[in-house]
Amino acid sequence: MSFSCPYIPFCPAVFKQLESIRLKIFSTAGYTRESLDNAAVFSHYCPMHLVSLKKVATYDRPAVREGLVRLLEPLGGMEAFVRPGERVLLKPNLLAGKPPENAVTTHPEVVRGVIELVKAAGGIPLVGDSPGVGNGRRVAEKSGVLQVVDETGAAFVDFAEPVEVCGSGTFKQFELARPYVEADRVINLPKLKTHEMMTMTCAVKNLFGAVIGTAKAAWHLKAGADRELFARMLLEIYLLRKPDLTIVDAVTAMEGDGPGSGDPRQVGLLLAGGNAVAVDVIAAEVAGIPKKLLYVERAAERLGLDGADRTTIRTAGIPLAETQVEDFRLPHISDVQFGLPRFIKNRLRHHVTSRPVPLPEQCRLCSICVDACPPRAIAIRDNKLVFDYHLCIRCFCCRELCPHGALDVRDGALLKLIRKYL
Ligand code: SF4
Ligand code: SF4
Repeated sequence: MSFSCPYIPFCPAVFKQLESIRLKIFSTAGYTRESLDNAAVFSHYCPMHLVSLKKVATYDRPAVREGLVRLLEPLGGMEAFVRPGERVLLKPNLLAGKPPENAVTTHPEVVRGVIELVKAAGGIPLVGDSPGVGNGRRVAEKSGVLQVVDETGAAFVDFAEPVEVCGSGTFKQFELARPYVEADRVINLPKLKTHEMMTMTCAVKNLFGAVIGTAKAAWHLKAGADRELFARMLLEIYLLRKPDLTIVDAVTAMEGDGPGSGDPRQVGLLLAGGNAVAVDVIAAEVAGIPKKLLYVERAAERLGLDGADRTTIRTAGIPLAETQVEDFRLPHISDVQFGLPRFIKNRLRHHVTSRPVPLPEQCRLCSICVDACPPRAIAIRDNKLVFDYHLCIRCFCCRELCPHGALDVRDGALLKLIRKYL
């Protein structure tokens, strides 16, 4: 349900005033339960969503720590989100066991800074995620996150045990990781990256990690080749357990063919907000990604979700105009089926989409893509990787997870033609 705010014509003066009241409430030393409840009621009835922006040039530890403190100031500080004694789950992006400089995972120094702020607010920090393949703890170790967890005295939680959660949208039942569902607070720590299937992965997409390991493939299968349906599924997961706070690591983002094999891109920015959809909207603006390519954001708008309407989002910290990234390289456009009726999509699929193709000289026949492919469209035969493109749903999980960069993309004939005019 969308809600039209009667104060919008008086912005920003009215909201400046309201925010100063809100900040006073949160910054009161030794705040009471009532004061926080009042603040929660206040923000419930205020339809504006605040996204804070802070420039942070490097992952130098003091710079990140200071940057996080300043970033959270307009939102009321970490104390506005964490109460003493609460178990706070930090959910970084732990897609694959790559070193931090590859920009595949949330940088360990950002995780460290957030752990320290949670502890300072009296919370008990836990860190967890579930990668598409392999073990979360091993990925955390390779990406440097586990070391930070150990050094700070936080705890790493395995996303191993699922809990059934009922949905009320298109999908009626989900199984999410127990530590994610049962934490008192969730702090979402995505990395800003391109994504070959969904164009961008940031706040909402990062929560797909709450689906345990190989169960992700089953969800890809349920949505099939329909990216709009997949976006809706991501939003329904988000709605089951909204994170209390999202902090985006865009100090070094990823551009090009993300999320696993793109190129690191220096953006020098942290973003934060209480509404993950609004954070995604602003992150996309920073990267200059056209809305027509943003499946999750468009689906959120269609569903009338809070934070999807740009007119309800305010930014704080540095001016948004100072954060724009020049020529942020998007992933290969692999699908131009926008808005086509389903029966036409099915007939034209081969011609208007790209498909993964193996690079035999780089492929080590490790089987990771074979095991990860949701519809089982990949097999190893006669020491060669073979694809069944009738089964392939173009999810690009294979490219996302191949550790050797051994999969390329090839465009359908019509797509090549259309691309010339895009
Ligand atoms: S394409 Fe990559 S993931 Fe698949 S078998 Fe070859 S090396 Fe392994
Ligand atoms: S072959 Fe690759 S792109 Fe096609 S369905 Fe399997 S994992 Fe997805």
